[in-house]
Parts: sequence; structure tokens; C-alpha cells
Amino acid sequence: VAKPDPILKASGVRRSFGGLTAVDVGHLEVQRGTITALIGPNGAGKSTLFNLLTGFDRVDAGEWSFEGRRLNGLGGHRVARQGMVRTFQLTKALTRLTVLDNMLLAAPGQVGEHFLGALLRPRWRHQEEANRERAMELLARFKLDAKKDDLAGSLSGGQRKLLEMARSLMVNPSMVMLDEPMAGVNPALVQSLLGHITSLRDEGMTVLFVEHDMDVIMGISDWIVVLAQGSVIAEGRPEDIRSNQEVVDAYLGA
Ligand code: ADP
Ligand code: MG
Repeated sequence: VAKPDPILKASGVRRSFGGLTAVDVGHLEVQRGTITALIGPNGAGKSTLFNLLTGFDRVDAGEWSFEGRRLNGLGGHRVARQGMVRTFQLTKALTRLTVLDNMLLAAPGQVGEHFLGALLRPRWRHQEEANRERAMELLARFKLDAKKDDLAGSLSGGQRKLLEMARSLMVNPSMVMLDEPMAGVNPALVQSLLGHITSLRDEGMTVLFVEHDMDVIMGISDWIVVLAQGSVIAEGRPEDIRSNQEVVDAYLGA
């Protein structure tokens, strides 16, 4: 469905694994400044679609643009630099680093700048200082500042999710994609996570998120896109989706 002011547009995006078509999206637009939920049964292709759009997996076909710029063929780091990021679960390796180091690793240009830094040390220092400041600001926002020197692996499930969100904001994105941001989070922290997601939207950011809990989805989404077997089978406002029998069937058929 065409949107008045799409920040993201995708057409004919396809990805197969062997004989299995994981994603086959005819057309998808995400309206700027909204919270859009991507829902669908397990295996519907939600995570694969996130990976494709953000450059962490390669499409078999299709094209897509972000802020009017084509992204086809760009790797994840270059897509992130355009302002579109997805969160990643903390890997084992990252759990062995401190919370602050996790943030600094997510700062823009981490890889190339060590070499450049050797040549331009003063400038590099300045960048490092700015990254640190931004990291501390974000950690404070997500109430993780007191934990900055703790190993990320010592955080609770909910705090990890907050850290994942905070990490993704290090590049100052205009759109964030959250893959099951509430998974494994205790109910007390769910409200806090939802509050953070809503604040991001209220500050003008576009949020696309995958979630299973219908109350959560209906509660904060401006728009819902339903994916089943790799394709968009319906989209609309929460109240329209709730009353759509085909959607309820596909969703409950998980
Ligand atoms: P969802 O996130 O909606 O649960 P996924 O995108 O993870 O779904 O998976 C969609 C389909 O693609 C599933 O059938 C899954 O098994 C398959 N799939 C995903 N990634 C791979 C991969 N790297 N190799 C093979 N099959 C995959
Ligand atoms: Mg998934």
C-alpha cells in the first residue's frame, strides 16, 4: 500500500534458501514517523526481511530505497550510515565485553578509523570522545549508566534488550528495526521498553518492529503489516487488522 510520505520502499524483494521461498514481498512502504509492526507466524520471513533490507543478507531479486536512495547491494554498515539500523541480539562475544564497550563498538566507522586514526590522531581522539559522550547519554536514557563497567553478560533479559536498543542508536539512525524487542523480558520491563519505543517515534524516528504479543502490537502500533509465507497478506490500522479473519487465521496458524 502506498503511503503519503514513505521513508522506506521495497519492491519484488525475494530470498530463497534452497527450495524454500523465505521472502517474496511484492510491495511494501513504511510511513515516516510511525511505529509499524511486522507480524506473522514463526517462519513467515520477518527476520529474513529485516536482514535483507538492512544489508545483512543478499536478495535474489528486488529493489528498495530508503529516504529515496537505492540500497541494493550495500552492506550492513553502509546501510546503517544511511540511517537505517536493525538491532542484534547480544552475541556470546559481546556478553564478555562491558556495557560501555558494547556501545563504543556500535559507534560509526569503528573498523576503518583505527588505520585513519594512526594518521590523524588528534581528530581520532576527538571522535572517540564524542562517541563516549553519546554512549553515556544513551546509557543514561536507558538507565544503564550505572552498569557501564559491568559485563553485558551480567545484565537481565530486559536490560539486554535495552542495551540492544541503545547500541542501535549510536549511529543516530532515522529508522530502527527491532526484532522481537520484548522477547524474554519480564512484564515489569515490558512497559518501560514500550515507553522507549513510543518516545523514539515521538522524537520523529521511524520504528519497524516484530512482535508476537497482540496486546503489545495493538497498543503501540500506528500501522500493522502481516507477513505469511514470505508475503504481505494484509496491512492496515490496528483496528482493521484485529477484525480481519484471514489475518487472524494466518496468525493463529503458527
Ligand atoms: P521469522 O523471523 O518470521 O520467524 P525467518 O525469517 O527467521 O522467519 O525464517 C523464514 C524461513 O526461512 C524459515 O522457514 C526459516 O527456516 C528459513 N531460513 C531463515 N534463515 C535461513 C538460513 N540462513 N538458511 C536456511 N533457511 C533459513
Ligand atoms: Mg524471526
